[in-house]
Amino acid sequence: MKKKIGLLYGGKSAEHKVSLQTALAVINALDYEKFEIYPIYITEQGEWIKGPLLEGKVETVAALQFSNGESLPPTALAPALFTADSQNAPFDIIFPLLHGPNGEDGTVQGLLELLNLPYVGNGVLASSAGMDKVIMKNIFAQAGLPQVNYVWFIRSEWEHNPVAAYEKVEADIGYPCFVKPANLGSSVGISKCTNREELVTAFKEAFQFDRKIIIEQGVTAREVELGVIGNDLPECSVAGEIIPKVEFYDYKAKYEDGNTALVIPAEITEAEYKLLEGLAKRAYKALDCSGLVRADFFLTKDGKAYINEVNTMPGFTPFSMFPLLWKHTGVDYPQLIERLVQLGIERYDEKQ
Ligand code: ADP
Ligand code: MG
Ligand code: MG
Repeated sequence: MKKKIGLLYGGKSAEHKVSLQTALAVINALDYEKFEIYPIYITEQGEWIKGPLLEGKVETVAALQFSNGESLPPTALAPALFTADSQNAPFDIIFPLLHGPNGEDGTVQGLLELLNLPYVGNGVLASSAGMDKVIMKNIFAQAGLPQVNYVWFIRSEWEHNPVAAYEKVEADIGYPCFVKPANLGSSVGISKCTNREELVTAFKEAFQFDRKIIIEQGVTAREVELGVIGNDLPECSVAGEIIPKVEFYDYKAKYEDGNTALVIPAEITEAEYKLLEGLAKRAYKALDCSGLVRADFFLTKDGKAYINEVNTMPGFTPFSMFPLLWKHTGVDYPQLIERLVQLGIERYDEKQ
């Protein structure tokens, strides 16, 4: 029997377009002999549109943005999601290909839990804790993982006394520092600061995206990343390195220029790899991850590693770091997708 997969993509998020590219690639990589694929497109306005069963490969992203599909008002969401087709057969699994808030942050995962549906990737806790950089870093700190120093503020605290906030950053962190909204990805709203003036601008910028921001000590280091897949016994891919051609790995470098070099496998020593592998697995356990993450590190010249973040739904086009890391580890894109589907079903079955 074919497995019925509901692919959730698009989303009310800055990363909408990326998600569409990912959906196109996943749809075309899945084996139609094994899977029935039902697209569920979330518009940029947050409207959910369920498309018909896909007949085969799809040529363009535009073909996935249904204008004539079945629009789902929130009250109809649950039953419509629950059934793949008019015979009322439930989905075997939902694959949320969503990045950022309202997708990668536990909200969609919570909905799927309530619907009692298996889904690919991290559960509610890991997704939401992984989305909030402050919470994530607090958990990593508790687990004894090495990180750069950080402080954080909520907007009202800063509005009440901005100078006190800047002074605290200068006393506890110093320059250079990175100012980031707590709850985003794709480098949106992030600035590097080397003086007070830049810090003031960076606070204003970051607070436009979130009511909570984090400020971290800036390090001069290589950026090395590992893919992790699994449930209770995660496995790591080879390491990859990002070589940004700009000041840092910002949104444009990630998605628009296409000239950021990815070096896979990263040129690191066996000892460095072992160090990162151990840290990645500890981070996975600390956040209670399942399915997958991409664990991102800073690696300094003298061999010190700091964990920067884990991404619970990393970029997932065939040209993104995570699938490329697995390809070099011997798991190609279609195999990776099938493995993640299987892990989602296993986790669901274990809970029953
Ligand atoms: P996102 O979740 O948006 O990817 P990151 O925390 O990974 O946010 O930051 C984006 C990029 O900014 C990183 O890939 C890196 O290039 C740079 N960066 C972030 N924090 C630091 C830091 N503390 N020191 C040096 N570079 C940093
Ligand atoms: Mg991130
Ligand atoms: Mg990052």
